[in-house]
Amino acid sequence: MAETLHDPELCHKLLARLAALLHGRPLRFMEVCGTHTVAIFRGGLRSLLPESVIHLSGPGCPVCVTHDSEVAEFFELARRPDVILATFGDLMRVPGPDGRCLKHAQAEGARVEVVYSPMDALTLAVQNPGSTVVFPGVGFETTAPAVAATVLMAQARGIHNFAVLSCHKLVPPALEALLADPDCAIDAFLLPGHVSTVLGLAPYAFVASRYHRPAVVAGFEPADILDALCRIAAQIDSGRAAVENAYPRAVHENGNPKAREILETVFTVTDARWRGLGLIAQSGLELCSRFDEFNARKRFDLKPIEARPIPGCRCGDVLKGRISPTECPLFGRACTPAKPVGPCMVSTEGSCSAYYKYGL
Ligand code: SF4
Repeated sequence: MAETLHDPELCHKLLARLAALLHGRPLRFMEVCGTHTVAIFRGGLRSLLPESVIHLSGPGCPVCVTHDSEVAEFFELARRPDVILATFGDLMRVPGPDGRCLKHAQAEGARVEVVYSPMDALTLAVQNPGSTVVFPGVGFETTAPAVAATVLMAQARGIHNFAVLSCHKLVPPALEALLADPDCAIDAFLLPGHVSTVLGLAPYAFVASRYHRPAVVAGFEPADILDALCRIAAQIDSGRAAVENAYPRAVHENGNPKAREILETVFTVTDARWRGLGLIAQSGLELCSRFDEFNARKRFDLKPIEARPIPGCRCGDVLKGRISPTECPLFGRACTPAKPVGPCMVSTEGSCSAYYKYGL
């Protein structure tokens, strides 16, 4: 299939197969990957899918799932004169307490720098020996290994003015939280391609064994996504539920053991707060105690912050698939990509941003 992934004829065949397998049966599938969100919109798939298929965009955008209390920690650190906050650009516009974002904090004198990788943040630390550079680690199993490698590098090179504020999240516990919530009513998951390159298939086994829902790892071309949906429909048609890999050119059944090893060396699994999903047991990563020196929470004695949710923003309901972005009263009115109210409109991988940019 690799050579023909852009072939419209192949996509039409897959669409016909999907319709035939479903026989008009409803299918509410959720993807939990910001890249899938954008790929589905960009490929125009939503308008081509059979009418009975409902696409839900779940908690797959790293910026979107970062909890208000974690965003408040960014501001707490940015306020400190001895700190340089080194962050990815998409966090700059996420509204924090009082609706202000890090761009505002920067304009008011906070030292906030945009970096393209955690290694860039470490370089910034070397260049600024009089300050501590803090990197907010936001994202899933995909981005965390690079952060872990940077912590090991800082330790090996004796760079002591570098710290990580770990807000990393783990995808499988979030899937379980969604499945356990009767309001979510998800029939099947399109599993994230990138995260699965690290995890492999085993961590998703509970989706099929305990919740009897099909779950298929998908790539990012339109034909990849349609192929995965056909596999989901075939499982439903034959009364099965299994975890399948429809992206074997990138995802191995056993994932990437080396990446998982570095995660286990540097991080410990902890409870984490997700926007929309709340506190989920064992769904986050915090630095192991032997790396306390590089843990921004320990280093600056950060106390848990109870941040106020953003008034009027329904990002939490959007991330759970309870409403579509257009059902938020602020969508396209008070909240646009140029003037976002919530994080789902900030990030290019956010559902609200995708709905706004690509239409319905
Ligand atoms: S449209 Fe804006 S305010 Fe509404 S849920 Fe999306 S990001 Fe939040």
